[in-house]
Amino acid sequence: MVTSTSKLAINGGKPISETPLKPESWPPVSEETAERMKELYLSREWSFHSPAEQEFARAYADYHGAKHGIFMVNGTVTIQCALAALGVGEGDEVIVPALTWMATAMAAYYLGATPVFVDLEPSTLCLDPDQLEDAITPKTGAVVPVHLYSSMADLEKILQICESKGVPVVEDCAHMQGGKWDGRGVGSWGHVGSFSFQQSKTLSCGEGGICLTDDDELADRIFRLKHIGYAPGNEQGRPSGSPPEDLVCHNFRATAFQALILREQLRNLSERIELYDKNASKIREHLENVPGVRVQSRGRLASPQGYYAIVFIFDEEPCRDVPRASLVEALEAEGLNVGGTYGPVYDHVLFNPPEDRYRIHGGRCEVAEYVATERAVSLSHPWLGADEETIDAVGEIFTKVATQADDIKSLDTEGK
Ligand SMILES: *Cc1c(COP(=O)(O)O)cnc(C)c1O
Repeated sequence: MVTSTSKLAINGGKPISETPLKPESWPPVSEETAERMKELYLSREWSFHSPAEQEFARAYADYHGAKHGIFMVNGTVTIQCALAALGVGEGDEVIVPALTWMATAMAAYYLGATPVFVDLEPSTLCLDPDQLEDAITPKTGAVVPVHLYSSMADLEKILQICESKGVPVVEDCAHMQGGKWDGRGVGSWGHVGSFSFQQSKTLSCGEGGICLTDDDELADRIFRLKHIGYAPGNEQGRPSGSPPEDLVCHNFRATAFQALILREQLRNLSERIELYDKNASKIREHLENVPGVRVQSRGRLASPQGYYAIVFIFDEEPCRDVPRASLVEALEAEGLNVGGTYGPVYDHVLFNPPEDRYRIHGGRCEVAEYVATERAVSLSHPWLGADEETIDAVGEIFTKVATQADDIKSLDTEGK
């Protein structure tokens, strides 16, 4: 049997898995949902705050312990509407973590605000609360912490700092469907919580998003923002009154088909997260005493943790000096094709605001630029839905590559 002490496959040894390992197929489909989709199609109730949309938004808000859920077309405009509802606009700054999907920063930029990037905690790779206080200025209109990959931003510390400064918080929960912080759903802690249901997310309908909030006025404003000014409960063609003058309202409505798919998936969400949590714990246990590699830590008060991806960081001896590309090659040779991480938003090829339209707090973000980008690899969440053998093999492969990292180093220099 090939074990973690056998010769590395990249050095001519036998791989842990002869054929590339595979994650669960994504997204999940079922005949039952297909049947309901057909019924919905025949019902002709496809949009305009349809019963399917109302049912899903209610169920999703309930799941996360929030009073209101406002369903939309994606998880970018949800952030934009949350910020707009809070009055963020031109001249304001919006604090976001340096490592996240671009949408978090672009949502602020769309409103004419200036994204301010703050570095990460090395353990969670989420917004570093210790750098937050300093980054807040009289211009700060909101802080948008992101619950990233398989961790959570430290809500306790962040909310405490923001409360003391009177700055609202919008949680970007695009990676954290069903995750709970200290027993209560993410997205229900800040003034607004934003979720994405894009194809790759843990709950997915192709494209979609939702805002959660406990605040009646914010809920009304967000609803009007996405529904060209209509108030909740208005029938098509019969608005009950005008939206407030400060709101520039859009059509960001999603269809009933998206809502229906999500309503069906939501029934299994807690079960799915439980499975992910169990398998992530197994992988963590595998690597607990393996020097050289660590797993992004769970959110401090996660109960349970949600998952978008599991992230492995090679920033200790004997792995720290092995180039990331060589580690990826070694993992692939053992049968595991890993992915990367986002990298800092301001370095993303698609991020194009001019330099005077964003700010990097402290001038650079070392953890985002180096630790999370140069030293990390990821496995997307469907890997955590794989069978037991695959999960064990993943643990074995990381163990094998990390413990024999010195042999990758020598291979690399011999090749040059
Ligand atoms: C996916 C994602 C979003 C929103 O993306 P959409 O594709 O517009 O739904 C926002 N923030 C993060 C961190 C994301 O991963």
